Amino acid sequence: MDLAFHNFTINPVGLAGTAARQYIAQVHEHLRWIHRTTSGRILLNVIRRPTFPVEIRPYAGADCNAMGGGEFKTPGNLSGFVEYSPGTFSRHGACSALPAGQDRGRIWDEILFHELVHVFRNATRKWDAATPLSFAMRHYNNNEEFIAVLCTNIYVSDRTNRIKSGLRKGHIDYSAMDPLDATRFGLFLSSRNAFALVKKFCDDNPIFTKALSDKLPDIVYNPIADYYRYPKFCEALSVFGAMKDRMALSKSLTSLGVPKPFVDWIVSAVM
Ligand SMILES: [Zn+2]
Repeated sequence: MDLAFHNFTINPVGLAGTAARQYIAQVHEHLRWIHRTTSGRILLNVIRRPTFPVEIRPYAGADCNAMGGGEFKTPGNLSGFVEYSPGTFSRHGACSALPAGQDRGRIWDEILFHELVHVFRNATRKWDAATPLSFAMRHYNNNEEFIAVLCTNIYVSDRTNRIKSGLRKGHIDYSAMDPLDATRFGLFLSSRNAFALVKKFCDDNPIFTKALSDKLPDIVYNPIADYYRYPKFCEALSVFGAMKDRMALSKSLTSLGVPKPFVDWIVSAVM
């Protein structure tokens, strides 16, 4: 992967000597893994802009995390950044303390791909974390995390990506997606807003989403391809999604000890 061609810089901020050289080599290697896949090349190509440099630098926190998005290093000039440290996700890094099973979407390149989706949404000036999620989608945290998790799950399903973890449920942790949600059309059945959010994402970023749909039409998980091929059917499934929202809210209120008549009243009042 040609860093200069993509307007990427790997900047080992805070590291020196061997550690700095090792950081650059590792991050470059993980970018190469992404670039070798169909979905990865699509993402890197749609980020690439002569006026939008992207800097990848070490993650400043000590927790199991990474960050990505847009920033103004000089006033008026939006650029992309990723804060990512491979060691965080290595055998003895901060993530190794997570319980068993908390490992979906947590391989180095999967983390980097997720953060690069955040960069892409900034590059195209479409960043929108405010559009609300419906209740049964709250494990995605917000619209941008939903988009990043959705795209990374497509990357995980991409057959040209050979070393992978598995489908990730949401954004609150690294647990596995429920089997029902992982089935074809499962996303559109899972919550009322799922269709509307996928539609908005496809309207926002048609080049990227159509490429994911056209180049990866028959992989095990690709709700974007299903949206483009069967939009009316996907939309109709929102009705079942709304039922899932009501069931999820009811279950959540019941677990808090709210008496059943109140649960029924709240669910009918807000949904
Ligand atoms: Zn994210």
